[in-house]
Amino acid sequence: MASRYQESNTPADARHSSRLGLLQRFYLVEVLSGLKLTGIRFFANMWRHTLHTVFRVKSAHGAVTIQYPDERRPYSPRLRSLHRLVRREDGSPRCVACMMCETVCPAHCIYIVATEHPNPEIEKVPESFDIDLGKCVFCGYCVEACPEDAIRMDTGILEFSSYSREGMVYTKEALLALEPAGPNGVPVSPVPMPADRRLPTRPATRQGLP
Ligand code: SF4
Ligand code: SF4
Repeated sequence: MASRYQESNTPADARHSSRLGLLQRFYLVEVLSGLKLTGIRFFANMWRHTLHTVFRVKSAHGAVTIQYPDERRPYSPRLRSLHRLVRREDGSPRCVACMMCETVCPAHCIYIVATEHPNPEIEKVPESFDIDLGKCVFCGYCVEACPEDAIRMDTGILEFSSYSREGMVYTKEALLALEPAGPNGVPVSPVPMPADRRLPTRPATRQGLP
């Protein structure tokens, strides 16, 4: 059964088109109306900013625009950003290759190959640990499932992309090199890879890994 929203907003609905006035059906009139509104807002804001910055009228506040990416607004500490692997004091991964994150991942985008750890008190260590961020849905389940607090999504890095699918696969070394974000969620680590990077070819370890 169609929802109430669908019933009242479908363009094919006769009642929808009947609500449009004659002038609204001429798009040029609507475009000019939009330009008029934008112009009013623009000049009003410019006047308020001029009052505030030139004439020192502290009570006048224009619209606040953040000059992204030169400026970033403070992000919530709960924001799920680019993953990182937590290191032990000797720099080795805290991960014990238990495969919990790989198992729980709904996007099947974590690929781990386990090997024996030289320390007999630690059973396993990941020989490779890849995350295909082209598939990741940033649900955070991997972080929640990890019994060792070995994977976190607290780098604050949101601007990562690639020209190739391979470039979206982040390796253990790349994930270990990242640091947690600073105050207000501002990233400390640079975006780890150039967008057009190419991974060295190596045998696929799991089905689906490029
Ligand atoms: S955030 Fe979700 S989709 Fe992304 S790697 Fe973790 S479990 Fe998988
Ligand atoms: S990151 Fe955590 S959950 Fe994933 S394999 Fe390592 S120890 Fe297990």
